[in-house]
Amino acid sequence: MRKKNRWVLVTGGSRGIGKALVTNLSRDYDMVFTYANSEEKAQALTNNINAMKDHGNVIAEKCDVRDIDCTKALCSQLIDKLGTPYGIICNAGITRDNIFLKMSPENWYGVIDNNLNGTFGILHHMVPHIIQEKCGSIIFMSSIAAIKGVIGQTNYSASKAAMLGFSRSLAQELSRFKITVNAILPGFVETDMTDLLSEQKKDIIKTIPLRRFADPVEIYYLVDYLLSDKSRYITGQEFVIDGGLTI
Ligand code: NAP
Repeated sequence: MRKKNRWVLVTGGSRGIGKALVTNLSRDYDMVFTYANSEEKAQALTNNINAMKDHGNVIAEKCDVRDIDCTKALCSQLIDKLGTPYGIICNAGITRDNIFLKMSPENWYGVIDNNLNGTFGILHHMVPHIIQEKCGSIIFMSSIAAIKGVIGQTNYSASKAAMLGFSRSLAQELSRFKITVNAILPGFVETDMTDLLSEQKKDIIKTIPLRRFADPVEIYYLVDYLLSDKSRYITGQEFVIDGGLTI
């Protein structure tokens, strides 16, 4: 049964992990998701879910999380229209890989701006509201790149490690308001992001004890738990879902 009066915000919901979150969480919650460019995919997803019986209402919002004016306007519009969200999943992320010797300032700052500053932009405007509810859950979509160095990903690893520091500190600050803050660290998940690795996929799979990439729905299972009342005593934690890659 849908958890009435609860809505959840997912940044970057048009594709990949975010799409799986929006699709599956909409059975229990009303959903709002953001996207940067994928207008058609976002509309198709929204239309599909809104046509399904027994699913919550889904709204897609074009908002580049790097643009602080855009996140500010979006958050205040959503608060006015829907009230405070119960859950916020900071999922929008990009990679711009290259070895450090060839890492351009554009790709360095671009990834930090998107993955780290974009997370700040949304939370900066939403946290003052969510704390007033004295109940809620914030989830950071980090990566195992935060804890395991990856050749070609100094920018991405730095952004994802920074998200862990951000989430641990925020968890401490918000615990008195009964808001939980946790981070998820996926390994390789079947999405457009890992499609870029298609040539290396066979070799990567040999390094994963469970010998496969994750299905995005497997990230949803954990998100669903971290949003649920069953996890109200869990905060400031980091959950690795990587098929054993970092063992
Ligand atoms: P994806 O398939 O490339 O999808 C990325 C999503 O984020 C899209 O919806 C995209 O919107 C959105 N997005 C990107 N930049 C944005 C911005 N500036 N403003 C608003 N939306 C933005 O990625 P994914 O594989 O699902 O990854 C989702 C998250 O999980 C990311 O944070 C990623 O770092 C993390 N992660 C992924 C993996 C993996 O193996 N796939 C592993 C570890 C961690 P558009 O469609 O409009 O571009």
